[in-house]
Amino acid sequence: MYEEVFFGDGPLSLSRRVDQTFSRLRGMSTGAATNRDLTSNTSRLDQWLSKLGYLANYRSFGQNFPVQFSGQREEISFEGSGRLYDMYPGEENELGGMVSLHGTEYIVDDIRGTQKPLTDVAVCDNEECDRRFRSFDPDETICPHCDSDLTTTQIHGISSVECSVAKGGQRSYRTFAQMSTYVRSTDAERDRQETELFGLDCDIEYGQFELTDFVYAFERGHSMSPSTEILRSQALIEKEDGGGSTDGLSWRERLEKSQEETYRPVGQQHHTQGLRLEFERDAIAERLERVTHPTASWPQLLTSLEQALDRAIPVVVKCDRSDYRVKASITEDAVEVYIVDGRQGGNGIGWHVHESLDEVADNVIDVGDCERCVDYCDECLLLSRTPSHYLENDLLDHRTLTAVVDGGEQ
Ligand SMILES: [Zn+2]
Ligand SMILES: [Zn+2]
Repeated sequence: MYEEVFFGDGPLSLSRRVDQTFSRLRGMSTGAATNRDLTSNTSRLDQWLSKLGYLANYRSFGQNFPVQFSGQREEISFEGSGRLYDMYPGEENELGGMVSLHGTEYIVDDIRGTQKPLTDVAVCDNEECDRRFRSFDPDETICPHCDSDLTTTQIHGISSVECSVAKGGQRSYRTFAQMSTYVRSTDAERDRQETELFGLDCDIEYGQFELTDFVYAFERGHSMSPSTEILRSQALIEKEDGGGSTDGLSWRERLEKSQEETYRPVGQQHHTQGLRLEFERDAIAERLERVTHPTASWPQLLTSLEQALDRAIPVVVKCDRSDYRVKASITEDAVEVYIVDGRQGGNGIGWHVHESLDEVADNVIDVGDCERCVDYCDECLLLSRTPSHYLENDLLDHRTLTAVVDGGEQ
């Protein structure tokens, strides 16, 4: 371990991580606000180590943030921690996620987002879309699945979270986050390779990626009603403290500016290691066309492939599903699959998958080769925490998966 951190040049190497984590600072301006943010975010050894991805690998707090819980009376307020997928705000920072803690139901009632956004993304905001709330590069304009215009938004970091005891009818709410994942290549040098996977030509890139997890929307139901509603998740964005930006404005304009509230989705960002697989879209389309059942579609293929990878990776790498992210998408001429570490600085899972890619692929084929069900079951594509809209919209089908990943055998 010691050798790897201080002398090696692998993914655990200290000099490599310092470079990855702080290289983007070199290009930054040296303004006072930047300095203050940097100092306040890295002033403690554990924060610094966590930024470099060492602590987070051994403790789960890399993905947690502090949360203020308030009880019915002031004396039972306390601080705890939360994770993004169960603590998110509601529309315009109204009531958000429900959290059960020590037998008490809490509801998220106030989340503030950081002044500076983490990133820009494009999102398909069409609730009827089979791949709804998926993220795209901000220069994309049309959703490839439903042809609707994409919405661009900024994602902000989380600066404070408050939950209070659910009262009355709120106690019967149930909420379910729709997690969105945005993965972007960084400028860092990456390893490229051409190979064959599932009997298809595949370009592999291994290197550093910027991962942004966010909750764009969530489902909320009530025990008195069978239907659920879909709500956007938006935190209140903190304002710049004073500053010169109001120069030249009249007092009325200043007043309006100070009363304007901005609400945006919030998330967490990590610089991680991982891989990107790229297949020719035409080659996959040709195999997909052979599928005969009526529900077969691109969204079904992409969703089934993501779920199959999510089942296969922990078998090969011996990790938890929350330790990495899988994302499959189509572009004009390619099918892209990202498999990236879920922790700041990386945790070695992407590397392990890269090294054992054939074994992972064999496991994906095995998942598709299910004889217990027609379309999906809990032995193949149905995993815990599978969003209910995957089932309602026929997005899981192992026959579609098999036709594509095992198509060369026919
Ligand atoms: Zn769409
Ligand atoms: Zn099955």
